[in-house]
Amino acid sequence: MRFPFTEDLPKKLMRKPAAEALAAMFAAGDEEGINLYAQSGYRSYETQVSLFASYVERDGIEAANKYSARPGESEHQSGLTMDVTSPDVSFLLNEDFGETPEGKWLAEHCGDFGFIIRYPNGKESITQYQYEPWHIRYVGKKAAQTIMSQQITLEEYVESLSE
Ligand SMILES: [Zn+2]
Repeated sequence: MRFPFTEDLPKKLMRKPAAEALAAMFAAGDEEGINLYAQSGYRSYETQVSLFASYVERDGIEAANKYSARPGESEHQSGLTMDVTSPDVSFLLNEDFGETPEGKWLAEHCGDFGFIIRYPNGKESITQYQYEPWHIRYVGKKAAQTIMSQQITLEEYVESLSE
């Protein structure tokens, strides 16, 4: 996988099925001139503690809760999540990524590789998170294709299974 940094860091890691799916998705993107980069995957509990604390320090707890998970609640701790980005947004994780060719391609194709855009635009009241076009989560192909094609959230999908 491509990363915009070279250090050997834990955030390069994912669980194996997710990592393999991500590699396959990057390869498919390459063939269409889509220049995706992985920015941040696995995060330990300790890392999330210090990250969240730094956000609270900077923006206050209310704001931090909207864009960052509390320790123990981050999907990055699961090893199933990766934040992806592209050179067009200088490898940043921001809403502009959703408007780049990479962001659009990702939203259109990630379901076929088992990934979902975990926090979609307009679903903030369901996910309790702001729109994050860069944050993808591996849920397997079947669930991902359903979620992405129906433009629903993981919460709504899980709910629909119990109906
Ligand atoms: Zn993320």
